[in-house]
Amino acid sequence: MEPRELVVISGKGGTGKTSVVAAFAALAGGAVLADCDVDAADLHLVLRPELGEPHDFSSRSCAVIEPDPCTGCGRCAEVCRFDAVSRSPDDEYSIDTIACEGCALCMRVCPADAIRMESVVNGVWMVSTTRFGPLVHARLGVAEDNSGKLVTHVRKEARATALREGLPLILADGAPGIGCPVIASLTGAHFVLAVTEPTVSGRHDLERVLQVVRGFRLPFAVLVNKADLNPELTEAVTADVLAQGALFARTVDYDPAVTAAQVAGVDVVTYGGRAAAAIEEAWNETARALAVTEEGDVSHA
Ligand code: SF4
Ligand code: SF4
Repeated sequence: MEPRELVVISGKGGTGKTSVVAAFAALAGGAVLADCDVDAADLHLVLRPELGEPHDFSSRSCAVIEPDPCTGCGRCAEVCRFDAVSRSPDDEYSIDTIACEGCALCMRVCPADAIRMESVVNGVWMVSTTRFGPLVHARLGVAEDNSGKLVTHVRKEARATALREGLPLILADGAPGIGCPVIASLTGAHFVLAVTEPTVSGRHDLERVLQVVRGFRLPFAVLVNKADLNPELTEAVTADVLAQGALFARTVDYDPAVTAAQVAGVDVVTYGGRAAAAIEEAWNETARALAVTEEGDVSHA
């Protein structure tokens, strides 16, 4: 059976998105979890998995100069648009692996056939074991910026794991913001839950990320976290998103138990508290919406 994929996103960090995902994991009764926030993965901090075997991830290549055949003609440095080729005082040429964009132009023009392209390992990914199901997570290398490709890889592995283990749901902790990683988190998903908070910046960021979601024509709902901190803004945000086509809008009031659960390294449902009850209601509604999308019943803006 084709697994359904729920992606939980937020317009920015710090809205409580990961706490919601961990709580949903506890409530789902068997799902593959995918941490798509590869720049700052933190789902494992709450789920405390038994770590799986790490696998290298490579999404780019870099030029390498072989010193022996190199004649020192300087042609590679002339053609490189990224200033990635440098010449030492001894007239030896080398490549800056950070600056190199992997275009391979230098390799093509080298008259001595002294340049080859090599894959660069720019991240690691693994499938770990949590008490709620397998967790696919990854870490991007320092100064690497191909996080969209690593997000796509995490989701691909999550789907393969769900098919292999016969699990019907993929629960993805989406990347924050509206850039390439969040687009990679959303492509091909079945349902989106956007977590926000009732602040002016939270509302602004939510508007921007929902534009992206609507661009993909995905069914979506909104959860306003810490709703009681600004009831007027919460009301305005929920009215806005319902007018924009959200299937539902739920609120969760501020509860110090959420932070206490994080510190204790457990999900908020296991920890307990009034937020746990509200999140459980949000999960029930999300599960119903996912079931409707499976029937192909949902129309959205
Ligand atoms: S183009 Fe080739 S031979 Fe010339 S400096 Fe570069 S690596 Fe050496
Ligand atoms: S592969 Fe492209 S970016 Fe890298 S050193 Fe060669 S010309 Fe420059």
